Amino acid sequence: MNHNSKIKKRLVVLGAGESGVGTAILGKKEGFDVFVSDKGVIANNYKEVLKNFEIEWEEQGHTENKILNANIVMKSPGIPDKVTLIEKLHVKGIPVLSEIEFAAKYTDAQIVGITGSNGKTTTTMLTHYVLKQGGLQVNMAGNIGDSFAKQVAEKDAPFYVLELSSFQLDGIEDFTPHIAILTNITPDHLDRYEYKIENYIASKFRIAMNQKEEDYFIYDADDKMIVEYLVKHPIRSRLLPFSLTKKVENGAYVEGENIIITIDNNKIIMSTTNLALKGNHNVKNAMAASTVSQLLKIRKATIRECLENFHGVEHRLENVLKINNVQYINDSKATNVNATFYALDAMKSATVWIVGGVDKGNDYTELYPLVNEKVKAIICLGVDNSKIINAFGNCIDYIVETQSMKEAVEMAYKIADRNENVLLSPACASFDLFKNYEERGRQFKEAVREL
Ligand code: ADP
Repeated sequence: MNHNSKIKKRLVVLGAGESGVGTAILGKKEGFDVFVSDKGVIANNYKEVLKNFEIEWEEQGHTENKILNANIVMKSPGIPDKVTLIEKLHVKGIPVLSEIEFAAKYTDAQIVGITGSNGKTTTTMLTHYVLKQGGLQVNMAGNIGDSFAKQVAEKDAPFYVLELSSFQLDGIEDFTPHIAILTNITPDHLDRYEYKIENYIASKFRIAMNQKEEDYFIYDADDKMIVEYLVKHPIRSRLLPFSLTKKVENGAYVEGENIIITIDNNKIIMSTTNLALKGNHNVKNAMAASTVSQLLKIRKATIRECLENFHGVEHRLENVLKINNVQYINDSKATNVNATFYALDAMKSATVWIVGGVDKGNDYTELYPLVNEKVKAIICLGVDNSKIINAFGNCIDYIVETQSMKEAVEMAYKIADRNENVLLSPACASFDLFKNYEERGRQFKEAVREL
C-alpha cells in the first residue's frame, strides 16, 4: 500500500465482529479511509475499540452510499454471498475479500493454514504449541482468539498458525499458506454451498489454490473425498499425506503403536500410546501437527514431549470428572456425525450417550456399528428428537428424552455403572436449547459437578 498517496483508499468493513474490527484496525494503520458497517448491534467492547482508533462506524443497517464507494470491502465470514448488498458490490466490480486475504498482504510471515470439517481447532492449537515450545516466534489466529488482522497490526510475528473456515477461504484471491493442512471433509454447512458437496469440497481446496512447488499440502489420505478430488484436480504444492491405515513414503503413517513421519529420508518415530490426546482422530491431528513441526525443523525430542503434554481443548472429548468410577466426557463441539463417530470410537467401555439438538440433515447409519458395540443407553437432549429415536430405537433398549442439561446429566448418573462413561457428543448444533456449543458444554460440566 502506498502510504504517501494523497487520496486515501476507502476500506469498508462489513460486520463488526472480531475479524471485522481487526481488519479496521489494520486498515487504519495502513492508511485507509475506514468505514465499518454492521446490520446488527455492535458489541460494546468493539464500539470502544472503534472509537479509540477514530474509525467511523454504523450499526443496525447498511448505508449503501457509504459502502458502494469503497475501493475494497472486507466481508465477515458470517455474511453469505447471496445478500443483495454483496451482489451490488460484485456488479460494481469492487473486490470483496475476507479478513485473511486482507491481513496476509501486510505481513511477510510464513503461514501454516489449517482447514477441514473437523479437527481444525485441535490441530491448530497443537501445532502452535509445538512450534512455540520449539522456540519459534509464532502467533495463532483464525477462529481463535485475537483476529489475524489485529495481530498483524499490533504484534506481527514471523510465523502464524491459522485456523481457516471455508467461509474465510471463499474470500481469498492471493492468500498462500506455505504449509496447508486439510484435516478431513465431511458434509457440513451445506446450506451455504447450494447443498452441493462438490462446492463445499472445492471451497476447502481453495487453501491450496495459490500454493507453488515450494509449498506443502498435508492431508488425510484415508479420506476418500480428499483423495478423489486430488486425483481430478492436481495441485502444485508438495503432497504430504497422513494415514492410519497405509504406509506412505513421504508423510506420516501408523505402524503398530508408532507414528512414523518421513520427509526426504528424515524420519521421526513416536509412540501413539504416549499421546496425551485420546482417540484415533487425535492420532491424525497429531500426525498433521508433527509433520508441520518437522518441516519447520523443530527438534524431535521437543515434538515428542509436546505430544505427551498437550491435553486438548475445552469441549473436545474433554474429561470432566470421575464420579463413582464413571467418567464424564464433554464433547459438546461435536456438531456433526463424523465428530461423534470419533468420540464413540474413542470410548473404551460401555457408554451412556447424550445426543441431540438441531439436526443439520444427519445420516446416522455410519454410527450403527459403534452404537451397537459401545452404547448402553441414549439420552436425547433436544426439542425434536424424533430422528434419533427413529434411527436408534431398534438397536438400543434404553432411549429417553430430556429437555434440559441438568435433567440429562441426572438421568445419565442413574443409568451409568462403575467403569462406564457418560459422553455428551451431540452430533447436532446447539441452538434449540443453548446459545452455542460452549454454553452447552459449560452447562454439562456444571451439572456434572453438582451431582
Ligand atoms: P473444528 O475446529 O474443525 O470444529 P475441533 O478441533 O474443534 O474442530 O473438533 C470438533 C469436533 O470434532 C470435536 O468433537 C472433536 O473431538 C472432533 N474431532 C477433532 N479432530 C477430529 C478429526 N481429525 N476427525 C474427526 N473428528 C475430529
